[in-house]
Amino acid sequence: MQSWQSHPVPRLAGTPRPLRLYDTATREIRPTAPGATATMYVCGITPYDATHLGHAATYLAFDLVHRQWLDNGHAVHYVQNVTDVDDPLLERADRDQTDWLVLAMRETALFREDMEALRVLPPRDYIGAVEAVPEITEVVAKLLADGIAYRVNDDYPDVYYAHEAIGTFGSVSHYDEPTMRALFAERGGDPDRPGKRHPLDALLWRVARPGEPSWDGELGSGRPGWHVECSVIALNRLGMGFDVQGGGSDLIFPHHEFSAAHAEALTGQHPFARHYVHAGMIGLDGEKMSKSRGNLVFVSRLRGDGVDPMAVRLALLSAHYRTDRTWTEDLLDAGEDRLARWRSAVSLPAGPDAADTVARLRTHLADDLDTPKALLAVDAWTTEALTAGGHDHAAPQLVRTAVDALLGIAW
Ligand code: ZN
Repeated sequence: MQSWQSHPVPRLAGTPRPLRLYDTATREIRPTAPGATATMYVCGITPYDATHLGHAATYLAFDLVHRQWLDNGHAVHYVQNVTDVDDPLLERADRDQTDWLVLAMRETALFREDMEALRVLPPRDYIGAVEAVPEITEVVAKLLADGIAYRVNDDYPDVYYAHEAIGTFGSVSHYDEPTMRALFAERGGDPDRPGKRHPLDALLWRVARPGEPSWDGELGSGRPGWHVECSVIALNRLGMGFDVQGGGSDLIFPHHEFSAAHAEALTGQHPFARHYVHAGMIGLDGEKMSKSRGNLVFVSRLRGDGVDPMAVRLALLSAHYRTDRTWTEDLLDAGEDRLARWRSAVSLPAGPDAADTVARLRTHLADDLDTPKALLAVDAWTTEALTAGGHDHAAPQLVRTAVDALLGIAW
């Protein structure tokens, strides 16, 4: 699938800092340790509605990971999927009496525009579930042949993953079984499906129902489950043990637990990813922003209202990526004010020395993306530049380059 346009990232002089990130699986902040090419997989959207600020915050967090690695001299192989066939998409198309394929294409196109406007660096591989069906089929067939998957005995003999097949199940989330069962039911699982060996076994292949899209192949006519889609797309492009598996914290279980389990059962290797990194949820009026609650603020709506996407970017980066937080008008106002001050300061012919500011910016971002402190470091230089001034003619350009390269802000 076509990705979106990239904006060039300027090279920044000075000494980069190796990136440390909080890993959900080991529950500690650890250094990322990429090779010459850093590898990252971030779960993409299910395109049945427009990009909301919760999505934007997640993709911005991983955009900063991407940028810190580039600063450290790594190439980055970034992969993202689009779940362009799944139950929520088909249900929305049905509700709106529209073609599911047209809905998916329309919302994916809007997502690309939003990402480009927010200056999120694009994935090298942007892969739709539909185009990945042959490779997913191959994996599900192998899991069946290995006895790790089974078919339910039903008119619709769907294929399920026997989650007790490997001993590492639970090593991503560490949730106990009651928590797993509750989240599984809440987030698209089907614990009560008759014929399953265990309520927590997850769907790998759904046999075609009348009126649903399906693909023919060695599993018979049907379509893939969600978790195995990400397993296969990541595994076939990045291999086992890639650097970062990312997404919102609502993907920890069941999605990331099962994506890892499928790949580990298939290959006999552990781990699937070396870091599992999760962004917090964005709420509105004290509630999580989600489609089911209908309290979404769309990036495209803000853009349509004339809001500068760079102000949205600064507003979302003003809190730490792992904290659950609330979107407010005040937050956006503060982002707009900050952007205006920064733009004024970097437009000055000279300013105070900025080498220390850039070093602090790098240090804070390398420390599990501490954007609140990173933004304050730039604020401090900005305030000094706008009040006391300075005589360093290279300083405004240095700050301009650093904030562009590391924080993705365009001037
Ligand atoms: Zn995923």
